[in-house]
Amino acid sequence: MSDSNCCSGMQQNLLSKEVPVVYSSKFREYGISVLDGGSSFIEIKSCPWCGSTLPTSLRTQWFEKIASLGLEPDSPEIPLEYLDDKWWVKN
Ligand SMILES: [Zn+2]
Repeated sequence: MSDSNCCSGMQQNLLSKEVPVVYSSKFREYGISVLDGGSSFIEIKSCPWCGSTLPTSLRTQWFEKIASLGLEPDSPEIPLEYLDDKWWVKN
């Protein structure tokens, strides 16, 4: 996780294990966890604490990148940079 979050509320609550807000660096998505024991979450578009608009999701671009590499989204051959934010931060 980077320290580029919009406010200290987001920063602190992402670090907390008691608040079901999550950040996916791979997709640049913020969300609220679905408490079903799995890892799914519901994307949120603005910060619950400061109200600022969150960065747009890169989920579609991620799947396009993986497809352009000739890989499936669950392939073990996906380069490590595509498993976190390295694939989009460097640009
Ligand atoms: Zn905020």
